[in-house]
Amino acid sequence: MISEKLTEAINQQINAEMWSAYLYLSMSQDLYKKGFKGIAHWYKVQFLEEQAHAEIFINYLHSQDARVILAPIAEVQTEWDSVLAIFEDTWAHEKRVTAMINNLCDIAEDEHDRAAQNMLAWFIDEQIEEEENDRELIFQAKMAEGDNAAMMVLDCELGKREYHTPSPLK
Ligand code: MG
Repeated sequence: MISEKLTEAINQQINAEMWSAYLYLSMSQDLYKKGFKGIAHWYKVQFLEEQAHAEIFINYLHSQDARVILAPIAEVQTEWDSVLAIFEDTWAHEKRVTAMINNLCDIAEDEHDRAAQNMLAWFIDEQIEEEENDRELIFQAKMAEGDNAAMMVLDCELGKREYHTPSPLK
């Protein structure tokens, strides 16, 4: 049986994942307006992924017969100075998400909640992947900085990203 404390923390995480989705949708709009339609597409896929993360937590609370409470989603930034600034903000944000997942793990561990620890293990791996991707994007944007042709190649490459349903939802 899941504790009240962990239920509340997971409900907060659902809100954080939805906020992440909203942030990436906002970044996608700014990128589209700046003319980077490929990178805007990459962020649109990221928006879908974040909603899937929220859904995984929602399904988990259902499986534990716990109540899902959907809190309001806070406002997000709407404009950035550059593509690099968007990538850097993305990494900074994902580092905060990693800390939140680690905190959920700490609660589950304190409570000897093996089921929750098992579910959270997938998110630990997911955050490693997210942060690795973000560092790669920052590296690529720094390499291409001031070179319009290189930025167009990056835009084209990131525009090829496909959405894959995260494995816990399959
Ligand atoms: Mg996420």
